[in-house]
Order: sequence, then C-alpha cells, then structure tokens
Amino acid sequence: STFQDLGLNQDLLQAISDLGFTTPSEVQEKAIPILLNEEQDLVALAQTGTGKTAAFGFPMLQQIDINSRTTQGLILSPTRELCLQITNEMKLYGKYCKGLNVVAIYGGASITEQANQIKKGAQVVVATPGRMKDMIRRKLVDISKIQYSVLDEADEMLNMGFYEDITDILSHTPKDKSTWLFSATMPKEVAKIAKDFMHSPIEIVV
Ligand code: AMP
Repeated sequence: STFQDLGLNQDLLQAISDLGFTTPSEVQEKAIPILLNEEQDLVALAQTGTGKTAAFGFPMLQQIDINSRTTQGLILSPTRELCLQITNEMKLYGKYCKGLNVVAIYGGASITEQANQIKKGAQVVVATPGRMKDMIRRKLVDISKIQYSVLDEADEMLNMGFYEDITDILSHTPKDKSTWLFSATMPKEVAKIAKDFMHSPIEIVV
C-alpha cells in the first residue's frame, strides 16, 4: 500500500515525499489505519528502526487541532537522546502543519527554558518521565486536556524504574484519551500498564 492508501492528509504526504519515504514500513501499515480511528488504544510490539516514530507520529499530527495551542499529544520516552530524536522527527513530519509547536522536555537541561517553550503553546510534548513529573508538580505544563498519549519503548522506561513516574503522569491526563504503547518486549510490568491504563487495546506485532 501507499501512504495515501493509509488515509494520511496532504500536509503529511508532502512531508513524507520530501523525506523520500516511498513505502510505509510494516508497523506503519498496520498501526496508522488503526490510530486514525481516534478512539482506539493500541499495543504495538516493535523494535527501534522499524519506523515506529512515524507510525504514531503521523496519526497524532493528523488528528490534533493545530489552530489551538492546547497541549493535545504527549509522548513519553526513556532517554533524553530518544526524546530529542522523536522531537526532531515530529518537526520534520509536521513541517507543513502550519502553527505546529513540538516541545521536548527532559532532565539535565534548564527547566525554565523548557517551561518558556511550553508557555508559547505546544500541541505536542515529547518528554522523559522524571522531568515531566517534576514540571507537572510545579504546574509548568498542563496535560489535563491531552487526547493522545504515547508510551514509547515502554519496556525500557520500566527497566529504568519509571513505573511510578508514568502512572503519576497518566493520573493527570483525561480518562477518555487514546493511549498508544510501543515496546520491543512484553514483560509483566508492560502488560500491567496496558491492563490498568488502556481501554481494550488492539495488539499488533511486527
Ligand atoms: P524509527 O524506528 O522510528 O526510529 O525510524 C527509523 C528510521 O527510519 C528513521 O530515520 C526514519 O526517518 C526512517 N523511516 C521511517 N519510516 C520510513 C519509511 N516508510 N521509509 C523510509 N524510511 C523511514
């Protein structure tokens, strides 16, 4: 199939063409049609390098309201490097989504600077759990209206001891949001997050 067949809009198709992506990867082919149905939760077993960032990034960018400055999408990832990588990819994918603001939140950098970026209005926030929790506690970021949450590399985040940070963060989000969990493996803790925080997720394996 083509990206057009998957139901992506013109702004995204143009960015995809600029990036030179010709064919959707397997995880994209499986996940994108599911995630464009805005009510659906997803558990995807997928390794890095499979194109999973675009698999959740495209549907998120297509469904958020870029005319609003409210934070609507939250992506949690285990490390600062991954957080910055996802942020860069989201900016590339959303280059024709006029008014889109994607902000990275991670430890080891100025919290004031990150808070100032959030204040300008970020529809999408990409964050590591520790710094995110800290900024919520200090009321520097509001995730009470997010509609889409992604737990990327969920097994890695849990391996790094972020279980309580993640559940604390999720407790500040609306119950009726969609949650998309990506993980290379499915240990008990990941299954528990899916069971406790997700609504009848569809599962895909690539
Ligand atoms: P990820 O697994 O999301 O880290 O993606 C791995 C790399 O593949 C990134 O550099 C992406 O930009 C690239 N990529 C993602 N989707 C495609 C695609 N459909 N065709 C070619 N490259 C892609």
